[in-house]
Amino acid sequence: MRVRVCVDSVAFARDASELRATVAIADLPRLHDVLFDQSGEITYRLAGALNKEGIASLRLDIAADLLMTCQRCLGPVKFSLKSARNFELVAETEALGDPAEELDNVERIHAVAKLDVATLVEDETILCLPMVAGHQPGECSSPVGAGGASRKKSPFSSLAVLKRQ
Ligand SMILES: [Zn+2]
Repeated sequence: MRVRVCVDSVAFARDASELRATVAIADLPRLHDVLFDQSGEITYRLAGALNKEGIASLRLDIAADLLMTCQRCLGPVKFSLKSARNFELVAETEALGDPAEELDNVERIHAVAKLDVATLVEDETILCLPMVAGHQPGECSSPVGAGGASRKKSPFSSLAVLKRQ
């Protein structure tokens, strides 16, 4: 396990700091169930600013080429992740308010002295992943629709396919 990058969120915003880095998918355990494997990494950019209203805020951009599991054939499906979201920092003593009243792509989070950036990236990735991943129709490598028959295929049946070509 690598050292987690933590930032003081309010100071980061006030100082208009910027952080560009990558986080390995292997280090984001909540993604392991939904992804095909643990290879790869997510590139992110975290930038702090005071927004138009003078509220300390963070902008997070993430990008990654991920492999998800096709729900039909259980094979790998590529998913290009790209997202940008703004976070408004709210004092820890204040309520975050009704999420329904938040503007699109602006989320309110509590200001904390140790914001775990990898967890923020992980949360954002989970929000952006499709609920169900799958190949385009006809692009599955071994359709489950073929059923048990395909599993019991003799090693010679693939030879037969080769001969027919
Ligand atoms: Zn598939």
